Amino acid sequence: MRTVLLLGGTGEGRALAAALTGFRVVSSLAGRVSAPRLPVGEVRIGGFGGVDGLVDHLARERVDAVVDATHPFAERITANARAACARARVPFLVLRRPGWTERPGDRWQWVASVAEAAAAVAGRRAFITTGRQELAHFTAGVARTVDPPDPPVPGVRVLLDRGPYTVDGEVALLREIRAEVLVTKDSGGDMTAAKLVAARHLGLPVVVVRRPPLPDVDVVGTVAEAVEWLTRGSGAG
Ligand code: NAP
Repeated sequence: MRTVLLLGGTGEGRALAAALTGFRVVSSLAGRVSAPRLPVGEVRIGGFGGVDGLVDHLARERVDAVVDATHPFAERITANARAACARARVPFLVLRRPGWTERPGDRWQWVASVAEAAAAVAGRRAFITTGRQELAHFTAGVARTVDPPDPPVPGVRVLLDRGPYTVDGEVALLREIRAEVLVTKDSGGDMTAAKLVAARHLGLPVVVVRRPPLPDVDVVGTVAEAVEWLTRGSGAG
């Protein structure tokens, strides 16, 4: 049976692990979240030790294909996986859900980084949903994160929660904290899109952090296409 290493930490990663049959699938999580939602099947947790560590892992585990279903902003692991697969001559696919698109009534401002987003919202009461890792760029506002930021960020109030969220719930929350602006990454997907609809309903501006560019490799946008790539395409070897 062929072995697929599935780099996860996303809803797509879990969906792909559940959808794949006829392969040995090992899902890999970074170990950032204290109580991660686990995919079905085999799971390993923790970094590989850079490109060299991943090359060793691919050989040791006799991995036949790697699917990178990590978050669109998890730039380092994607670059590492690409380099390791090239070196080990293992087929590599990126599964990247499409980004969000602006609709009529939206008031979006695109920025290049979380740091730029923090500068763009300075002086306004911001609802920050860009994750805890770069929260230190902000000096005020309300942030929603899965785990508490460590160390805490002075001036930023933290709400611990994780999706999926509803539009009604997001409208109520934005009202309750009297948000003047929403800050988000262009993560895409349904799990966290309700906040964008809520902001539209309330006429709130949104600062959207642009995605890092994708590497020049095979990329698909859906779980079904990834299954097909593995069963019929390059992943079948
Ligand atoms: P990153 O900056 O791209 O990667 C940093 C290091 O973490 C990597 O070099 C690797 O360590 C390790 N790593 C990352 N993803 C891994 C995985 N799936 N399996 C094993 N090791 C992994 O990653 P990140 O942005 O911190 O994201 C970490 C995890 O959280 C990913 O699984 C991602 O899908 C998920 N996530 C990220 C975001 C976000 O906004 N960035 C949001 C939601 C979920 P070594 O070099 O030691 O191998």
